[in-house]
Amino acid sequence: MFKKCLTAVMFVTLLAWTATAQDAKTVISSASKAMGADNLRTVEYSGVGADFAFGQAMTPGSPWPKFIDKTYTRTINFETPASRMSRVRMQGEYPQRGGGGQPVVGEVTQNQVIVVNANTPWAQQLEIWMTPYGFLKAAAANNATVKSQTVGGKKYNVLTFTGQNKAQVNGYINDQNMVERVETWIDNNVLGDMPFDAVYTEYLDFGGVKFPRRIVQRQGGAPILDLVVLDVKPNAPANIQPPQAPAGGGGAAPPATTSQKLADGVYLILPAYAALAVDFKDGIVVIEGPQSEERAGAIIAEAKKVIPNKPIKYVVNTHAHFDHAGGLRTFVAEGATIVTHEINKPYFERIFAAPHTLGPDKLAQSKAKLSIETMTDKKVMTDGNHVIELYQLHTNFHNDGLIVAYLPKEKILVEADSFNPPAQPNAPAPAVINLNNVNLLDNINRLKLDVQTIIPIHYPADARRVTMTELFTAVGKSGS
Ligand SMILES: [Zn+2]
Repeated sequence: MFKKCLTAVMFVTLLAWTATAQDAKTVISSASKAMGADNLRTVEYSGVGADFAFGQAMTPGSPWPKFIDKTYTRTINFETPASRMSRVRMQGEYPQRGGGGQPVVGEVTQNQVIVVNANTPWAQQLEIWMTPYGFLKAAAANNATVKSQTVGGKKYNVLTFTGQNKAQVNGYINDQNMVERVETWIDNNVLGDMPFDAVYTEYLDFGGVKFPRRIVQRQGGAPILDLVVLDVKPNAPANIQPPQAPAGGGGAAPPATTSQKLADGVYLILPAYAALAVDFKDGIVVIEGPQSEERAGAIIAEAKKVIPNKPIKYVVNTHAHFDHAGGLRTFVAEGATIVTHEINKPYFERIFAAPHTLGPDKLAQSKAKLSIETMTDKKVMTDGNHVIELYQLHTNFHNDGLIVAYLPKEKILVEADSFNPPAQPNAPAPAVINLNNVNLLDNINRLKLDVQTIIPIHYPADARRVTMTELFTAVGKSGS
């Protein structure tokens, strides 16, 4: 009896699977036909809207800061495959709030070219495969399955295939046979298995091809692009060439990690993103755990080299922007306690608990526990010999939890994003004064800090010593 039942179950399961596979082909071909995708080899679409700087929020958990896209054009060649995007961007936050290179002065042209080859990261390829047409082509090529699903009272055929990063890619086909939404997950240093989705609405006919008038892409739960499409050119010429490698530097390995002794037990670790290592009696204090596991690992190794036989006890985090927090997980795996502004604690606790299955990092593989010490306006770290004073920057435009570190004995100030010095030491004062620079100087004056050396986390490539003179020049007060 049991055996008979099992056979029956297996048969039914197999039948359902076969039917599903067949249905997926039907769903793809119906959608392709309805959308005019069958003979679409390339497409160029253009419009206006906004893009948003991922990982650069003013407050942890708030939406990414906005920039105006005065023009936006994307050309996709599905056969190469390749994609080229060009846009003219302007400042979008008034007053400026958050990172991502704010303030944008005037109109700035940005280009992105992706020519898919064997080494192209999947997350980049998704700019092609997550478009409605790219999705249908990828679903057909990757043996997609289909199931029916009701979302918000609306019924969809949901096509699913597995991406190169092993995450599911799901496309929601509505009752008009239009691709209304595509979702997947990609690995992020800070957020782990991060949702990436695109919503396509208000389909219109452009020369026999149906194209959405509105495109909203989101990463980590907030928009990164919100575009109103004004024009679509099906099968426009799309001879997209890979960008030329920069002269002399194409494919070169990044410069090796080095360090300079600034004072007794105080070391500057370069190149940018820079970090400071301070030799406390019972362990090393590192200021900033930036970027990635790779960069954080290099900083940890250099700190242990110059301060041997001591653990990394603390990592001071200047703020939660992902380029400055992207290496924190590596420090936690190393056993370090994070010191950060208190507004970051609930955020870090939430995101550090997120799964990292797509790109398992050291912390995901270790059993290290997250340990966070917080501060509000001021915190002093000392071992009785070295002193590190941490201060929140009042009324700054960059991040609500932005802190600087000041070493009173050495008269060193470590700051992130408040003053990114120009490449050349004697650069003239900028035509437009950067309010972040003004705010840093205001805070230095308010706190009466006697700064002789500035350590910008975004350290200039020439590794020169940066003094207050450069900050005075930047805010138009040279000679002060
Ligand atoms: Zn920042």
